[in-house]
Amino acid sequence: MPSIDAFADRLLSYLDNDQVNLVRRAYFYAEQAHDGQRRRSGEAYVTHPLAVANILADMHMDHQSLMAAMLHDVIEDTGIAKEALNTQFGETVAELVDGVSKLTQMNFETKAEAQAENFQKMAMAMARDIRVILVKLADRLHNMRTLEVLSGEKRRRIAKETLEIYAPIANRLGMHSMRIEFEDLGFKAMYPMRSERIRAAVRRARGNRKEIVNKIEESLTHCLTREGLEGEVLGREKHIYGIYQKMRGKRKAFNEIMDVYAFRIVVDKVDTCYRVLGAVHNLYKPLPGRFKDYIAIPKANGYQSLHTTLFGMHGVPIEIQIRTREMEEMANNGIAAHWLYKSNEVDQPKGTHARARQWVKGVLEMQQRAGNSLEFIESVKIDLFPDEVYVFTPKGRIMELPKGSTAVDFAYAVHTDVGNTCIACRINRRLAPLSQALESGSTVEIVSAPGARPNPAWLNFVVTGKARTHIRHALKLQRRSESISLGERLLNKVLTSFNSHLDKLVPERVQAVLGEYRQEVIEDLLEDIGLGNRMAYVVARRLLASDGEQLPCAEGPLAIRGTEGLVLSYAKCCTPIPGDPIVGHLSAGKGMVVHLDSCRNIGEIRHNPEKCIQLSWAKDVVGEFNVELRIELEHQRGLIALLAGSVNAADGNIEKISMDERDGRISVVQLVVSVHDRVHLARVIKKLRALKGVMRITRARA
Ligand code: MN
Repeated sequence: MPSIDAFADRLLSYLDNDQVNLVRRAYFYAEQAHDGQRRRSGEAYVTHPLAVANILADMHMDHQSLMAAMLHDVIEDTGIAKEALNTQFGETVAELVDGVSKLTQMNFETKAEAQAENFQKMAMAMARDIRVILVKLADRLHNMRTLEVLSGEKRRRIAKETLEIYAPIANRLGMHSMRIEFEDLGFKAMYPMRSERIRAAVRRARGNRKEIVNKIEESLTHCLTREGLEGEVLGREKHIYGIYQKMRGKRKAFNEIMDVYAFRIVVDKVDTCYRVLGAVHNLYKPLPGRFKDYIAIPKANGYQSLHTTLFGMHGVPIEIQIRTREMEEMANNGIAAHWLYKSNEVDQPKGTHARARQWVKGVLEMQQRAGNSLEFIESVKIDLFPDEVYVFTPKGRIMELPKGSTAVDFAYAVHTDVGNTCIACRINRRLAPLSQALESGSTVEIVSAPGARPNPAWLNFVVTGKARTHIRHALKLQRRSESISLGERLLNKVLTSFNSHLDKLVPERVQAVLGEYRQEVIEDLLEDIGLGNRMAYVVARRLLASDGEQLPCAEGPLAIRGTEGLVLSYAKCCTPIPGDPIVGHLSAGKGMVVHLDSCRNIGEIRHNPEKCIQLSWAKDVVGEFNVELRIELEHQRGLIALLAGSVNAADGNIEKISMDERDGRISVVQLVVSVHDRVHLARVIKKLRALKGVMRITRARA
């Protein structure tokens, strides 16, 4: 393991002095923080972060990533807070370390295997900065390289997780070299015997094959020279895990796999790739159906190459990959290749994300040129810049939701009933507002209550169609039952003044009227009345068949109980409260709106029995009613606290407060207070009057 000095020297090949010194500082900070801690191998703990930084330096990662690598276990293992890192090393590095810690804390082991893919996505979604993933991958790589010192069970757990989560992530990011190493190390830890057997077989086969490999290589090189093409011919072997998968998945014998000879030809430019292809197809006969042009149509992770299989001498199959040096670099390092060759770019906090984006953009453009399906965009773009959030249910199931989703969306995604009866939520075990947008990696728990109902206000913040549809549907049902009950009361009111009642009506007559109105059941008619679409007065006369007769017009007012629900609302213009003389205005489709008897807005229709109905407050009316007060008072310090204190002392509740300064001396305060009724309001006002400097209190009316 090289020392920090040797490491720093190495960094000077691509970082400047100041940056290298920052990396050094991070190292010494970590050394101190981990002081006394040892790795399982007995080495000082700090050798691990240093090794992780080394892996990242191989990819020419920037100094901030290297600093984060040095510090990556500090939050998790030494109890130093993110804020401390923020002060010491700046926000970017602190964020990176925090991101890596969060990934480390995510516990994959307890979750179902089938969810591995979701986990990959979740990990990606959690990392706002792609460097978090790269540091985490390097961390995992070093842990895999030093896995042997761990106990069998722990070793297998980490290996499994590596195969299921980290190798696929490396693959998605096009980091072939890292993926191969993850797979071989993971396989070795999971199945040491199988791995060793294949390894030994490969070693043996290598000896036997040597002669043929050399011959083919020679003839390929010769062929290129003859055609005047420049290219490097490399023999290549399948990696151990790859062989294993082929044996299992395709049920092939080891010999069958090893009978294939594989080569790679790396050339200078794309044009040469195709010319080399022509040359080798001329040299040996190609196997039909095996040619693949991943240059024109790249793989989902941006991999580009030409693949072909040839019949060599004596019918030996030869697999050939042809690609440019740049493609080779991309194939090995994927997203990290951008750091390798463009590391002298101006350093900006956004720079790295821009670079990741650039990579995605590059891959995207390749795909578009190829006219490929958009499926690929799903797999790459979404992973890096997710439009989804991934959250856990309390039992550890992962739910995928669109970005911006709230706990209510989550509740409906779990089950419609959970959504309909939800009243609160806990995010990561803490109570949180239902409207809060969820973040990837959070655990969400819904608190529900039997009989609870959806709140119309939810429609303002839910983002999923499912939640929206179900809330609307539930509200509609609720509205219907409330409309029916209000309609029934309105109709009975009128019927009573004719000395009749719904129960006393002649059924045939009721059917006839329903037919006239093209309605099937009495509930439909009552709903229509409740919603204000039909007047109870007119309907009552039809039901009693009393066309000619004039109404005695002795109907008393209808009592409002405050429990009518969605079909009854209180006018915003005059904010009536129990005790006020009131009148009901029926507006089609909206139900009844309660106004003050004296409200100017209903002045003209006040006495039209088809539009307005006389109301009274029931004795047992319930609820909180908002009323707006306008208070003029002398300006003084702590004025709002004083007002709040007085309202509170009278059991009132301030819903809203705003203040205008008149002339430095006098202030006008608009106060929306919720009260039970007029008596209660009087108590509130009395308390307010008692305040020093209060000159005038009026109830505001639009
Ligand atoms: Mn670590």
